[in-house]
Order: sequence, then C-alpha cells, then structure tokens
Amino acid sequence: MTRISIKEYAKKHIKCNPDENLKDVISRLKDAVERKNSGATCSICGASIWAVGSAVGGFEGCFTCITGEHDDSEDYEVFL
Ligand SMILES: [Zn+2]
Repeated sequence: MTRISIKEYAKKHIKCNPDENLKDVISRLKDAVERKNSGATCSICGASIWAVGSAVGGFEGCFTCITGEHDDSEDYEVFL
C-alpha cells in the first residue's frame, strides 16, 4: 500500500466524491487511524484494520474483507 497523509487522501476522495465534506472526511480518517493505532481489528477476520476503508466503507475491517481483493499494491493507507 502507498502511505499518504490524511489531507492528501481526503483531497483525492473529495475529487471522486464531490458531494462529501472535506472536513468530515478528514475527521473520519483521523478517527480510523487512531482506532487502528490503538489496536482495532477487522470485525470479520481479526486482522489489523485498514484505516482508509474503515473510514469510508462503513464498517471496521481489513483491506481484504472490505474490498474482497488480496492485492493492495494500488491502494492507499493513511497515517497521522
Ligand atoms: Zn478482515
């Protein structure tokens, strides 16, 4: 996964989802990263959560359980 800052990711997300609010997306991403850093695990398989997917996907999960894919090389993960 490519690691990018929360702000950078939020801007990309808004480009694809122009009806969403930038501040709201940033705060959801921050929350998700904080949960990840404090040890939150995927609600399906118990692996470490994918902060981006958990912030925008609606449930606490890892990359594989949220997307159904194993190759995460073209996706992003955010950090604080
Ligand atoms: Zn999982």
